[in-house]
Amino acid sequence: MNLVTRLKRSVIFVLTLGVFGCASDNQNEPQAKYLVSDVAFVNGHVFNAEDGFVDNVFIVREGAVIANVKNLTSDFSGKIVDLAGKWVIPGLIDMHTHSYGNFIPNAKNDSPGTEVIAQRILKAGVTGFVDLFGYEKKLFEVRAKQRSGAFVGADMYTSLTCFTAPKGHCSEYGIPTRTVTTVEEVKSQMDDLAQYKPDVIKIVYQPTDDQPSISKEVFAQLVKSADEFGIKTIVHIKTWQDVRDAVEVGASAVTHVPRGKIPLDVPVLMAQSGMVMIPTLAVHNDFVNFLFDESVLDAPLLKQLVPESLIAAYKSQSLLEKYKDRKAEVEVRNRIAFAAVNAIHKAGVRVLVGTDAGNWNTVQGYSVHREMKLLSEAGFTPEEAIAAASTYATEFLGMKVGTNEGERANFVVLNTSPTKNILNTQDIAFVVKDGKVVVPKE
Ligand SMILES: [Zn+2]
Repeated sequence: MNLVTRLKRSVIFVLTLGVFGCASDNQNEPQAKYLVSDVAFVNGHVFNAEDGFVDNVFIVREGAVIANVKNLTSDFSGKIVDLAGKWVIPGLIDMHTHSYGNFIPNAKNDSPGTEVIAQRILKAGVTGFVDLFGYEKKLFEVRAKQRSGAFVGADMYTSLTCFTAPKGHCSEYGIPTRTVTTVEEVKSQMDDLAQYKPDVIKIVYQPTDDQPSISKEVFAQLVKSADEFGIKTIVHIKTWQDVRDAVEVGASAVTHVPRGKIPLDVPVLMAQSGMVMIPTLAVHNDFVNFLFDESVLDAPLLKQLVPESLIAAYKSQSLLEKYKDRKAEVEVRNRIAFAAVNAIHKAGVRVLVGTDAGNWNTVQGYSVHREMKLLSEAGFTPEEAIAAASTYATEFLGMKVGTNEGERANFVVLNTSPTKNILNTQDIAFVVKDGKVVVPKE
């Protein structure tokens, strides 16, 4: 061994000692734990569901957040992104959508399909969505494509199909459903569907509706069978009694807000059972705003998301004429729905943002922001509305997404404060998904 080699070896030995020595002798001394490829986001107001907005720094490595701390330490050697004056919220999730596209009144729908919608809604900061019924096979295929990384779109979750009675709700769209009338049928249908790994199970239960409904016995078996596969259930309901039944059979969530005042026992029952609610105020209640509040259709974000023909269709004089006499009546109905959601929220029930987009007076992506606005009209603070549209949704789905340590780095940077006005969630500077800026495209 020559001298140079010996010297090299001893240097390596000393360095090795040094590194390990640090870790074991002095716990306060920071280790060289950062890589040059790490990205630190500094000086922003950063949201988390527990504390609201905190002036923290978070560090992203390979699509995940590796630290969320008060200050950046001097050993940080990566890239720094200055978010001074900006507001950071987790990627938004639409918990109830039909991702084929958008309904347009009195015209051919805007139907680009799930793959295009999944890409488009990123512009609205929506980094995940739950499709609660469409063409089962198509949804299955697009989800596989999205997960394989074949295109960069919002994370797709889906029930794939809808469990309903023969000729029950869901069947009116001409799309095949999974119809069930007996407990035996439930078992075989669920066994079959489970092969395709639905992320949630969608059930239609509305025994007092004009359309046929599954029985309570079949409903109970659907929930039981889904439980056996470890899959959560989201139930389309119509009345407050349907909600009570959903609690009784142990469903995970109900979606929609029944008409009429909420009975006093319902919020308590829901809270005690741990049931989640996805009210979809957008589809029930935003109608009056689409028609009579100009700022809703003039929003800059909306223009980025839909063809001009959609906006023009809602602005049509004939539509305004048709509904102008019903404005007051609809507003009364809205207040009753808001009071119901408020009572449920106050009782401690987790409320999640869902839009039922694909239907009348909703727009894919945009309506997630409208739903947060409607929740704030129902008494949610901006922070509560943001948590309902992000962290609480991903918790329901069993995901960890946002800017806390250990979470996938899907987040939205806003130019203005959503705490002053929840509509400011639409003022998007950029959107990051899996650690990469996806809007505007890099
Ligand atoms: Zn729906």
